[in-house]
Amino acid sequence: MKTFKPLALAYLILLLMKISTAGAAVVPPKIAYKVTFPEAQAHYADIEMTVSGLKQPTLDLKMPVWTPGSYLIREFAKNIESLTATANGKAVAAPKTSKNTWHINTTGISTVVVKYKVYSFEVSVRTSFVDITHGFLSTTGIFLFPKGMLNQPSSIKIIPYKDWTTVSTSLEKVGDDQFTLTSPNFDILYDSPIEVGTQDVFGFDAAGVKYEVAMYGGGNYDKERLKKDMAKVVEAETAVFGENPNKHYTFIVHNRARGGGGLEHLSSTVLGASREQYGSESGYINFLGLVAHEHFHLWNVKRLRPIVLGPFDYETENYTTNLWIAEGFTAYYQNLIRRHAELYSVDSYLGDAVGDINTVENQPGTKVQPLAEASFDAWIKAYRPNENSYNTGISYYDKGAVVGMLLDLEIMNATGGKQSLDDVMKYMYNTYYKGKKRGYTDAEFKLAFEKFSGKNLDDFYAKYINGLAPIDYNKYLGYAGYKITDQLADSNNPTLGVSASNQPAGKKIVSMVLRDGAGWKDGISVGDEIVSVDGTPVTDMTTLMNGRKVGDKITVAVIRDGKPYSLPVTLLRNNRVQYKAEELPNPTAQQLAVRKKWLKQ
Ligand SMILES: [Zn+2]
Repeated sequence: MKTFKPLALAYLILLLMKISTAGAAVVPPKIAYKVTFPEAQAHYADIEMTVSGLKQPTLDLKMPVWTPGSYLIREFAKNIESLTATANGKAVAAPKTSKNTWHINTTGISTVVVKYKVYSFEVSVRTSFVDITHGFLSTTGIFLFPKGMLNQPSSIKIIPYKDWTTVSTSLEKVGDDQFTLTSPNFDILYDSPIEVGTQDVFGFDAAGVKYEVAMYGGGNYDKERLKKDMAKVVEAETAVFGENPNKHYTFIVHNRARGGGGLEHLSSTVLGASREQYGSESGYINFLGLVAHEHFHLWNVKRLRPIVLGPFDYETENYTTNLWIAEGFTAYYQNLIRRHAELYSVDSYLGDAVGDINTVENQPGTKVQPLAEASFDAWIKAYRPNENSYNTGISYYDKGAVVGMLLDLEIMNATGGKQSLDDVMKYMYNTYYKGKKRGYTDAEFKLAFEKFSGKNLDDFYAKYINGLAPIDYNKYLGYAGYKITDQLADSNNPTLGVSASNQPAGKKIVSMVLRDGAGWKDGISVGDEIVSVDGTPVTDMTTLMNGRKVGDKITVAVIRDGKPYSLPVTLLRNNRVQYKAEELPNPTAQQLAVRKKWLKQ
């Protein structure tokens, strides 16, 4: 029972006032789009936008500059051309007032029709692509929004190109017409990509939700096997959060000669795949990993989210320090879910988990960039890498996955295998997404970890989230009766500490110089062409160290900016680590309970 407080009374009065004035409420303008593809062969989508019922003196139309889930300013307005506006059949001016804003004087005008073309030729899961085989509309780069009307509904009519037959999207259809769609607001529209073409569509039911898979581009996939295994992923992920909030969900899969990557949305996802990858076991399990990752996001980041990530500001960067939860934990679960759904073995799972540790430990940037900072700077660093990124940054996916594992083990250990990170995720989802109907703050997530682990995590955060301390992996893995050992600990192999590409053909051009390696200390630079070592021409970088030892002094001849240089270099030890997991002898009942909860073994 709830106490009736004065605040509640005031709210009731406000509510009554709202109801009593509802009859006089201003009817918002109607927004309708028509999408046609008269020049699909030249990669254009043509948009006609009608805004009617206007009662305002001016109308600003805006294009988002980024697409949520992909933290980079992409300037989608760069693809717009030939924008014109008409009212009552007459042209009206629509000058640009900023890089992504068109301004229309609507004094005395109730209906404006705006037409524009969108050049769509960037192959990725977050950008639009049109050719005669299909139209993929990444909606943030296709539909202008009227300033101040992000909460308004809109309708979308699609006129398909020639023989295109099918629309795949999570947007609601009007009646049974798949070519007429509606969106309740722009957050939904911008979170609902649209695939139009002749894609191969099949479905399955899982967790009480209707799933649709739209396969563009063909491929050697086995539909029946996919239906069965994708349903297992869905069920295992739903079990983490305790409910699946969608009625229907759409997987749009772009199969190309070579493809990968994915982008999450509220009720759909776009996946990239290689046409032939389903044929091998590793290719198939990798595809299921991508499915598990993007589908997990429908909870983690789309609903349970950092407070700035929804509602979004579509016109600027939206900064958060929590992508290590939003992306890193999703990366952790993409492996764990495949294990829990028994799609792969304990050994395969442990191999992947330790693989993440190796990736983190071998990257010099892990000693430079704290995890929270990697998240905050995603816009200018992770999404804008350069030749030195490996030395200066760490991936919030890789280290976030590792930290997720540590916290999971901490909670399982504290509760004797009764609770896990799953319980934190479910609690946060229920408390913030469903309860408070907002995102979480960094402090709120930390409190939840502390609640379930029964520990103060100030030190953990200071060391591993906001700091650069080395991670004591074996403390955490020991909770489950495992330890990792470095298979290369006793090695003393020399290395030059540089990577070189083979482009242009036959030339060894330095592409990366490893921080604190021999090349770094003795002055080899990115861009150098390595010509010879001790007078012997270099034809193969992989055999360069044959017969050499740590401490050897060599002379590396390079060409830099057209000039020859001779660099004396002292070879240093290759400090790469290669951890491997092994079981501790005589595990205790507590360790076995944690292991059972973690690995379902
Ligand atoms: Zn992700």
